[in-house]
Amino acid sequence: MTMTVPAPAVEVFNADYSLLDRVGWQAAVSMLMREVAYALEAHDPPQVLRSPTAAIELPKSLLLVRYAPVPYRREADHASRAEILTRDANRCQFVGCGGSATTIDHLLPRSRGGGNTWHNLVASCEACNGAKANRTPAEAGMRLVREPFRPGHL
Ligand SMILES: [Zn+2]
Repeated sequence: MTMTVPAPAVEVFNADYSLLDRVGWQAAVSMLMREVAYALEAHDPPQVLRSPTAAIELPKSLLLVRYAPVPYRREADHASRAEILTRDANRCQFVGCGGSATTIDHLLPRSRGGGNTWHNLVASCEACNGAKANRTPAEAGMRLVREPFRPGHL
């Protein structure tokens, strides 16, 4: 399947409706296909992924069928610290900063189940990382210069 525009990350909710992670559209589609998760919220307008033989609506969020006591998908969308710094060219990804990144920020904090994934990690300077603390960017009133993505060659 292909997307004509970059698809936003999909939020994954655990079976108890707690926010667990953010994953790329490929991982989201895979979870739907394997029936380990259901679509929870739809995009408005709908975002439809098309292949020559099928079409699937990409949800805004997914709900796991079974409660995941341990993060389940570290392998599927995993990224290393070095990979994230390279993708983000060692620049802090928070709007209004532009500083040199020396740390990696988890958008959904690790303490709240956020994984080491392409869609949950961004390069950050220490000041922004510290200001955001144990919150999501929305909770902290901070925005990203771009949606984190998985490079096509990885
Ligand atoms: Zn910064």
